[in-house]
Amino acid sequence: MPSPKLSTLAVQSGPRRHAHDALTGAVSLTSTYSFENTAELRRYFDGDLEREEYGRYGNPTVRGVEQKIAALDGAEACALFGSGMAAVTTSLLAVLKAGDHAVLTSDCYRRTRQFVGTFLKKLGVDSTLVEPGDFDALERAITPKTKLIVSESPTNPYLRVADLVKLAEVKSKHRGVLLFIDSTFATPVNQRPLELGADLCLHSATKYLGGHNDLLAGSVSGRAGLVQAIADLRGVLGGVLDPHSAYLLGRGLKTLPLRVRQHNANALAVAQWLEKQPAVQRVWYPGLESHPDHATARAQMSGFGGVVTFEVKGGIEAGSRLVDACRLARIAPSLGGVETLIEQPALMSFYELTTEQRLAIGIKDELIRLAVGVEDVDNIVGDLTRALDAAQSGGAR
Ligand SMILES: *Cc1c(COP(=O)(O)O)cnc(C)c1O
Repeated sequence: MPSPKLSTLAVQSGPRRHAHDALTGAVSLTSTYSFENTAELRRYFDGDLEREEYGRYGNPTVRGVEQKIAALDGAEACALFGSGMAAVTTSLLAVLKAGDHAVLTSDCYRRTRQFVGTFLKKLGVDSTLVEPGDFDALERAITPKTKLIVSESPTNPYLRVADLVKLAEVKSKHRGVLLFIDSTFATPVNQRPLELGADLCLHSATKYLGGHNDLLAGSVSGRAGLVQAIADLRGVLGGVLDPHSAYLLGRGLKTLPLRVRQHNANALAVAQWLEKQPAVQRVWYPGLESHPDHATARAQMSGFGGVVTFEVKGGIEAGSRLVDACRLARIAPSLGGVETLIEQPALMSFYELTTEQRLAIGIKDELIRLAVGVEDVDNIVGDLTRALDAAQSGGAR
C-alpha cells in the first residue's frame, strides 16, 4: 500500500479506537481526572503511568486532534490552543527569554508584530523587522543573540509569499536559531513549512483548519521536544482549547483537503475574472502571473489558497458601495471558512488609522479583501458582477 496521502490522513489519522466501539471520538467534557487510589497517583507522578491528570494539562479530545494536525503537518507533535494568538504568544514565550533577539518579517500578522514589538520588548526581548524577500537585510539583522526568525506566508492582505527554502538556509547558517512560520493562509494542503526547513509551523485553526467559521483555535507543530516545551508553558499560561471546539475542529479537519481544493479553484477563477474587469485596478493573488511572488509560490505551494485581494477604482467610497452591494459575500473579518467573506482592510483591521498612516504601512483605501468560500463559483462571480456595477454607478466622487 502506498503511504497515506493527505486526504487519507485527514480522515483516518488520530485515535482509532473509541469508548463503546463508537466510530467517532467523544467530546470529553471533564475538567479533571480521578485516580483509583494514592498508589495510582504515585505511579503517575513517578512517570510509570501515562494518563490524564487535570484539564489544563491535557484532554483526550484535544489530544486526538493534535495527532491529526501533526500527521497533516508532517510533524512529530502538535499542541493546540484556544486561539491562534494563544498559540503564537505561548510558543514565542517558550522559545525566547530576556536578552534574546528575534527577527520578524514586516508583513507578519499584525497582532504577532504587536506582541513581539511591545510585549516581548517589555520582557527584555529585542526584535528587528526586515522587509520580506530582503535576505541581505535578514543576514544583517541576525546577531549572536538571535534565537528566532518569525515569518508568515502567504501574508495579509497582499498574499506575499516568503521563500521558505531561503529562510531555512539563512537560519541553518546560524547555530541555535529557530525558524517559526505562520502558515495559516496556506494550510498543510498547499504548503509544507516543516518539510522546507522550518522548526515550528503555526496555524490559526480558526481559519481553514476549522473551516466553518464556528470556532477559535490555534496550533503549533514541530519536533516533539520543542512542542512539549511549548505545551508545558501552555499548562502555566492556560491558553488551552475547549473540548467542544476541539471536536468541531477535528470534524472540520476531515474535509480539509476537499475544502481547500475548492477554495483554491474558486479563488483562482475569481482572481482571473477580476483581473479582466475594467473597474478593477489591480488584483493580488499568488496564482496569477502578475503577482510579484508568483514564481516562489509555484515552487513551494501546491495551491494558492482562498484569499484574493484587489483594488477597486474610485477609492474607499466605491469600495464601500461594492461591499454593501454584495449579497452572497458577507461583510466580516476572518477567512478560511466555507462562507465567502468580504471586507475593506481600511475599514476593518486598520480603521483607527488615517489614510496617510495606512499608506505608510502599505494599506491602500481602495483595497478589498475577499475570502473566497466553497459556494459555486458562478454564484460568487455573479455576486461580484452586480457589486462592481453598483460600485461604479455610485457617481463620481
Ligand atoms: C487570524 C490569524 C492569526 C490569529 O489567529 P486567531 O485564531 O484569530 O487568534 C494569526 N495569524 C494569521 C495569519 C491569521 O490570519
